[in-house]
Amino acid sequence: MKMKFNFLGGADIVGRMAMTIEGDNKTMLVEYGISPTKPPQYPLPVPGKIDHIFLTHSHLDHCGMIPAVCGKQNCELFTTPLSAEISELMMYDSLKIAKAEGYPEPYQAADIERTMQHVVPLTFEDTIELGHLDVTLHSAGHVPGATMFEFKGDNSTLYTGDIHTEDQKLVLGARPLDCKNLFIEGTYGGRNHPPKEDTINAFIAKIDEVIDRGGIVIVPVFAVGRTQEIMLLLKNLGYEMWVDGMGRSVTNLFLDYPEYIRNAKSLRAAKRTFNEVRNAGSRKRAIKGQIIVTTGGMLDGGPVLSYLHTLKDDPKNAILLVGYQADDTNGRMLMDQGCINLDGEVVKVACEVQKFDFSAHAGHDQIVQFIRDCDPENVIFMHSETRELFLPDLQDDYHVMLPEVNKPFELDV
Ligand SMILES: [Zn+2]
Ligand SMILES: [Zn+2]
Repeated sequence: MKMKFNFLGGADIVGRMAMTIEGDNKTMLVEYGISPTKPPQYPLPVPGKIDHIFLTHSHLDHCGMIPAVCGKQNCELFTTPLSAEISELMMYDSLKIAKAEGYPEPYQAADIERTMQHVVPLTFEDTIELGHLDVTLHSAGHVPGATMFEFKGDNSTLYTGDIHTEDQKLVLGARPLDCKNLFIEGTYGGRNHPPKEDTINAFIAKIDEVIDRGGIVIVPVFAVGRTQEIMLLLKNLGYEMWVDGMGRSVTNLFLDYPEYIRNAKSLRAAKRTFNEVRNAGSRKRAIKGQIIVTTGGMLDGGPVLSYLHTLKDDPKNAILLVGYQADDTNGRMLMDQGCINLDGEVVKVACEVQKFDFSAHAGHDQIVQFIRDCDPENVIFMHSETRELFLPDLQDDYHVMLPEVNKPFELDV
């Protein structure tokens, strides 16, 4: 059966993911995210009535705008229960940020409430029948709860969302699946990750060095996944460690759904070795500690900024970046120019800054291998600013497509 696909956002950028699938008498929406830039950027509006929404995971670039559709239309939202609960936190948070920064609110709190009522919770290997399509969920290995969707009509179409193929401390890597059409992310097109053990060793050696010289280590992290991976890495170091920001609530949600994490016992142990910042008083104590793990991961908001006010000027201290730093973010400016924007003023940072590659996304060669193992006919790249760098490795063996936003195309599904 022929179906029409159209990206409403996120095809050639890492951000605001959105794609419609039309056919079989319905219109489905796969993800509806925002780019959490200042001001936030949104995907194109949906073309009309949406029958079903599919959400791969709870990062804002995938879930952030779903209430604008699901809260207004009565469509079902298919995702894992863990992704639904974390998304709810993220949606309220982005509404809070919009209010605080004076941006127009893309939806209301009531839309988030209604969205949550429309969630159809599904777990890995569950299949639902929608007309002539069977849809099955498979773990994406990206963050806990993250799923790929397999759409099976006459042929099979796999939509990966964000994936990692290598095992992480929190989740095992994604497994390839035979399919005819493969929609795959290409965040790391043209770049490979160094061996993980080397990165871990260098990261811990740097922490020891900073603390030995009397400095404080700040690790800015994303709330979903990175906070907990870093806590798991550091849990046996024996330093005075603090965790701040929304990552704390996300850790508790992960522990509410232990079936989605590799080792709940070790995450519980990691949580116990960290002091939690719950108020201004404990933030003052944290600043006298040794390691602070805190949101936001790209230094564009969150408690990390209040720590930087105090800690950035002492060269004994260090900011250790451990996640993706998108263009036009404070984190990127810090890496490239050694300064950040604090309260509207660009200021120099005197403390040490280092970047460590702890990505939750597959690297270039891992993506190529995953594609070869799925052995599709059509490979459709998305979620990438460098996706053309995959062409030399793949174009002789596959029909590789680099779709653009609002340029619909048809596939046999
Ligand atoms: Zn993600
Ligand atoms: Zn993403």
